[in-house]
Formats: sequence, structure tokens, C-alpha cells
Amino acid sequence: MELDTIAAISTPMGEGAIAIVRLSGSQSFEIADLLFKGVGGKRIKDVPSHTIHYGNIIDPKTEQIAEEVMVSVMKGPKTFTKEDVIEINCHGGLVSVNRVLQLLLTHGARLAEPGEFTKRAFLNGRIDLSQAEAVMDLIRAKTDRAMNVALGQMEGRLSKLIQKLRQEILEVLAHVEVNIDYPEYDDVEEMTHHLLLEKAAFVKKEVEQLLRTSQQGKILREGLSTVIVGRPNVGKSSLLNSLVHENKAIVTDIPGTTRDVIEEYVNVRGVPLRLVDTAGIRETEDIVERIGVERSRQVLKEADLILLVINYSDELTEEDINLFKAVEGMDVIVIVNKTDLEQVINMDQVHELSQNHKLVTTSLLEDQGIDELEEAIASLFFAGAIETGDMTYVSNTRHIALLNQALNAIDEAIQGVEMGTPIDIVQIDLTRTWELLGEITGDSVHESLIDQLFSQFCLGK
Ligand code: GDP
Ligand code: ZN
Repeated sequence: MELDTIAAISTPMGEGAIAIVRLSGSQSFEIADLLFKGVGGKRIKDVPSHTIHYGNIIDPKTEQIAEEVMVSVMKGPKTFTKEDVIEINCHGGLVSVNRVLQLLLTHGARLAEPGEFTKRAFLNGRIDLSQAEAVMDLIRAKTDRAMNVALGQMEGRLSKLIQKLRQEILEVLAHVEVNIDYPEYDDVEEMTHHLLLEKAAFVKKEVEQLLRTSQQGKILREGLSTVIVGRPNVGKSSLLNSLVHENKAIVTDIPGTTRDVIEEYVNVRGVPLRLVDTAGIRETEDIVERIGVERSRQVLKEADLILLVINYSDELTEEDINLFKAVEGMDVIVIVNKTDLEQVINMDQVHELSQNHKLVTTSLLEDQGIDELEEAIASLFFAGAIETGDMTYVSNTRHIALLNQALNAIDEAIQGVEMGTPIDIVQIDLTRTWELLGEITGDSVHESLIDQLFSQFCLGK
């Protein structure tokens, strides 16, 4: 299959000292040679692969210098797309980058569709589908830890595990095949049933294990949705400010992410918190008063983490007590704030109301207790193994859906064997499991799905 040559700006739009225009395809070197004048008159097609060259992009029509550039020359297949790739490093400035791109487009290249470079890497067998999706997640990753999950996936951790499971299923299918071909041997049937149950149980266990990581994976990817509640004036805004200041919001403008996200992401000791934008938080401030306990309970239920703030220098009020009731059974950290002031609150009552919630005392005014609060958040969500970061997490919605379907199919296969269902029916469930797992890595997916997936990518990736 001969693909045309595509071009796009592959660095974020806007300022930035350097902007890169990327070309990929069999015509890349030819097109570059039409426009690039290197020092000493070197031709791109003659230089060694994986070298960088200084020179100018010249508009052939006017013979004017369009831009002073560094050109990276990379011969396929040792490139991201496996095709011949040219990267033109411009000094930036939207105008000059666009001028270079326009010249490429009028000299034989086509503007790349969103995600098309990654799509090519997939089509040319450089990466599998779950790795391609990881590239997309990486572009969108909002915290360090989410970045690690995406990186792990890109290295093929999930792919390898899925391949192993599919291999196990194939082995069983081979036995089933023998069984169907030679039904007269009793011991073959015995063996097949035995093996089938054993392998199916193994696959089931692994898929369940993967699905268990998915909740954590989602949190890593999207951040814990965190709501700060408390009656007016207890220090909610101060708390938000401390959290944002102490933990610089991580990635709001990595290449390719949209710039109009309003949510505040902070990384607290590796736990990504998604604090709703200040306007949203302000709205929830008087939530109990405004909409009543029943309704507020509903709103709070959607949060992953509640930070409930009360005032050390004041009596507990009816409103405080209602808030405690509203967050019963949720992940809550109770923050007793304003400890720099004289104690009025009855701590025995606070302990009683808090039950098994974590309890932290702070003076946000004097910067006291923030460490303990961060510690509490971290230990609440990342106790134990998850710290090591070398597990395989599933965080992609499509993968989770496929794993769930695969789990159903394997369950049906197991039940089938246990109930003495004819082996060729069991075979159907096994084959389905095998196919569903294959869709995760893209070994069995439809063309339209591929198009849909890649169109979600950012331009130039
Ligand atoms: P919110 O209404 O719950 O958002 O409370 P704010 O964060 O706006 O704080 C209300 C007032 O309490 C402000 O004047 C803060 O400066 C003050 N405040 C916040 N935390 C503390 C604290 O730890 N000690 C003292 N003394 N004042 C605080
Ligand atoms: Zn406030």
C-alpha cells in the first residue's frame, strides 16, 4: 500500500521558541529538496539518515527566504511512522511556521488529519492499537502518575499481557479442535475438559485482576474529583489556595491539550486531584442551606473525595452536623481549621461525628497542618503496592468495556463445560473471548473503529 506524504505542525500552537513542521511519506525527501537550501548545497536525499542540517527554506516562486531552519532527516523504517520523515525546526512565530507548512502543501504534501502520524505508525506495524491509544492518553495525561501509566502502556505492558492470555486461549482451542475431530477417544474429552477449566479459570482471573485496576486507572487518568465543603467562613477558599500553591498544578498546557480547561489539577504526593474550578466550588459552599440535606447528599455522592472543613474557634453548628451526616459512608477527610485561634469547638464531639474518617487539624493562615493533610490524602488512596508503579493499569474506557465483555464470554465458556454443553458450543464462547481481547490490541478491529479512534488525536501527532 503506497500512502501519500503528509505534513502538519507538530508543536503546540502559539508562542514557544521553536516550532516543528513534520513531513512523513515516500515523497518527504523530494519535497524537502524542492524547498530547502542547505549550507554547501547538500541535497537531503544524499545526506546520511538521522542527521540534522542547517539552512533556509526558499520559496521557489519568489526565491525569497521564507524561514531559517534546522532540518532533521530520518529515513524509514527507523522512524515513528516507519516512513521517511523530515522535521523542519523553525524559530517559531505562527506566521513563519505556517508559511513553511503552506509551501510544503503547495509542493506535494497533504495536510495530515488529526492523529494521522500515529495512525500511520499503527498501519505500518510500528505500534499496536493499545499503544497508539496510549500516545493519545499521553497527550492528554494530566499528572505524573497518569503519564507513567500511559508510558507503561506504550511500552506494550498491556499488549504483552493480552497476547499471553490470547495464547492461552488458542492452546485450549487447539485441544477442543482435536476433541471435535476425534470424539471417539474418551480420554481426549476428559483432558480437554480438564485443561479448558484450568486455562479458562486462569484467563478469567487475569481479566478480573485487570478490571480491578481500572478504577484506580481512571482516577490516575482523570484525577480524583474532590469537593471542599463546609459552612461559610471556615476556610474552604484558603484550603483550595494552599493546595494549589503547594502543589503546582501540573500539566495544563502540554502539547496538544485544549487550553480552555477550567478544572484545577493538582498533584498531591502522586495523587491527582481534580478540584472543580473556583466558581464551581464557590457554588457548593452553601450547598446545604441552599438545596437542603437530601439534595446535597446526591451532589456529594458524585465526588471521589470530600474535604470537610470545620472551625476550631467556633461551636459546631447544626449546619456542621448536617454536613457530617451528608457525607456518611464516603471518603472524607475532616479538617479542623483555625487552630491558631482559641479553641471553642468540642473535640470529643468532633471525634464522635467523624467516626472512622481521617481527621487533620490545620491553621491555613499560619501554614500549619498542610503536610499532615497531604499525607492523609496520599495514604487514603495509595496504600501499598500502587506506589511502585510497575503494575499494569487499565484506564482506557474502550479497554474496560472489552475486558468486561471478554469476562462474560469466558464465564459462559466455563459454565458451558460445567453443565456439559457440547464442546463446539463452548468453542464459540472461547473464540469470542479471544476476539474481544484481540480488539484491545487491534488484532481484530474494524476499519471504522480505527478511523474513529485516530480522529480523536490532536493535529500533528
Ligand atoms: P470560606 O468562606 O470557607 O471559603 O473561608 P475563607 O477561606 O474565605 O476564609 C474565611 C476567613 O477566615 C478569611 O478571612 C481567612 O483569612 C480566614 N482564615 C482561613 N483560615 C484561617 C486560619 O487557619 N486561621 C485564621 N485565624 N483565619 C483563617
Ligand atoms: Zn470561599
